[in-house]
Amino acid sequence: MNIYYYESEPGLTDGLLLPLLKQYTSVNYVPLPEGPKTALDNWNGSEDFRYTTISKFSLTPDDRVLITTPKSSPLEKWCVKDCSHALWGWSDGTFSVIYTEPPVRLSTQFHECLHFLGVDDCYVIDDPAHPAKPSCTRDDCVMRYGVNSLKVCDSVLTQINNFQKQ
Ligand SMILES: [Zn+2]
Ligand SMILES: [Zn+2]
Repeated sequence: MNIYYYESEPGLTDGLLLPLLKQYTSVNYVPLPEGPKTALDNWNGSEDFRYTTISKFSLTPDDRVLITTPKSSPLEKWCVKDCSHALWGWSDGTFSVIYTEPPVRLSTQFHECLHFLGVDDCYVIDDPAHPAKPSCTRDDCVMRYGVNSLKVCDSVLTQINNFQKQ
């Protein structure tokens, strides 16, 4: 898997993220190429940012795009409009956008990157209180809602293993 990373400002991607992900899967971590990077730098919020990216760059089924932006950026506004409970980060499984600040930025980046590996959320999306799913066995699982942690439950590990066998 190739994770192309993009930062609205240099240094937003936590340096601990890649070693953390490598504990679970083999991943190439590469800066987003110049064409789509410039397109995202100049993105005006009026069209889907995914279209802006892929209009300059074709993704293979093995490619993912990790975007980190400051709070209150146009990308944050787009994501929260798309999904109102996505207050820290957003993902469609191919693109992930993170707009939290430390100390929750790394755990949010980890959570959204686990969606790249086919992992589902460990919380009930349709319930406004977002309780944990019964399948989640750890109170501090990073796939629960609003949890600042770098731990995963057994259900997440199973999903990662199944994804790698595909
Ligand atoms: Zn999630
Ligand atoms: Zn879990």
